[in-house]
Amino acid sequence: MLQVKNISFSYKKTLILKGISFKVNPGEHVSILGESGSGKSTLLKLLYGTYNLNNGRIFWKDKEILGPKQNLIIGPEYMKYVAQEFDLMPFITVTENIGAFLSNFYPEEKQKRIDELLNVVELTAFANTKVKLLSGGQKQRVALAKAIAKQPEIILLDEPFSHIDNFKKQSLRRSLFKYLKEKNITCIVATHDKDDVLPFSDYMIVLHEAQIIANNTPQQLFKNPQNTLIASFFDEFNIIDDEIIYTHQLKAVDKSNLKATVKKSYFKGHYYLIEANLNGNTVFFESKFQYDENKEVFLKKTL
Ligand code: ADP
Ligand code: MG
Repeated sequence: MLQVKNISFSYKKTLILKGISFKVNPGEHVSILGESGSGKSTLLKLLYGTYNLNNGRIFWKDKEILGPKQNLIIGPEYMKYVAQEFDLMPFITVTENIGAFLSNFYPEEKQKRIDELLNVVELTAFANTKVKLLSGGQKQRVALAKAIAKQPEIILLDEPFSHIDNFKKQSLRRSLFKYLKEKNITCIVATHDKDDVLPFSDYMIVLHEAQIIANNTPQQLFKNPQNTLIASFFDEFNIIDDEIIYTHQLKAVDKSNLKATVKKSYFKGHYYLIEANLNGNTVFFESKFQYDENKEVFLKKTL
C-alpha cells in the first residue's frame, strides 16, 4: 500500500503541508480535495518524489519514494503522474504520443494496446491527428491515455478533467475510472469538482491550512459534513440553528415554525432553487415549483 507518514513540506519558509499522514490500499481510488492553493498539486508532486520532504517519509509497498536529493530520476517506474499542465509532443500524432512509452518489439500488440487506450479516452477518431491541432480537452485526454499506456501500479491525476467540456466529461470519467478499477490501478486524484469524486472515490481527503481535516468515504462526509468547507464541496447549504442544512434538505410545507418570504426563484432544470428571507437571513431551498416574489412560505428541515 501507499503509506504517507507525517510528511511536511515548504517551498520557502511557510509550510505548505504539515504532518500529513494517510494510507491507500492497492486498487483504491482516493481524491484530494481542498480550495485553490491548499496544496493538492504539491501533495501529488511529493508523492511522485518531485521535491525533498522537510519531514516524514513516503512508501509504496516496501519501497521508499525519495526526493531528488537521493534519486536522480524523478518519478518511480511503477507510478505515473498527469500534471495540471500536461506535456505532450505537439508535432506528432495522438497514436504516436500515446505509444511513446510502449515497446516497438511487438508492433501488433502495440497497435492493439493503443486502440484500447484510444477507446478508453474516446479519441479513436483522432488517432492520426497531430496533437498541436487538438483542443485543450482533447490534449488532456491524450495525456491520460499516455499515462495509463504502460499500466502503472499507481497513477496520480491533477485536475484530470479540468479542460474537458461537460458534454464529454461524464462518460470519460466513467470510462477512465472503470478502466483503472478493472486493472487494479491505485489512483489518487486532486480535484475541486465533486463529480470527479462522489461516484468514483473510495475515500476523500480534505486539505485545509496545510493539514488533513477529513479522511473518510464520500458518503460519510456528505451525510455528516463536520464543517462548512466540507459541505461546500457537495452542495449549497444554509446554516440554521447552527446546523448545516443542504438546500435539498429544506422544504416548503403547509405549516411550520420557520416562516420565510420568497425573494427569487432560479430555474435549475428538474427543480427550482428558491431564495428566501428567514428572520433577516437569506436561505435557499429546493422546490418543484416556482414561487412569486414576497410569497410567504413555511420551511421544514428534512434531514
Ligand atoms: P492547489 O493545487 O491546491 O491549488 P498548490 O499545491 O498548487 O495548491 O499550491 C499550494 C501553495 O504553494 C500555494 O500557496 C502556492 O502559491 C504555493 N506554490 C506552489 N508551487 C510553488 C512553487 N513552485 N514555488 C513556490 N510556491 C509554490
Ligand atoms: Mg493544483
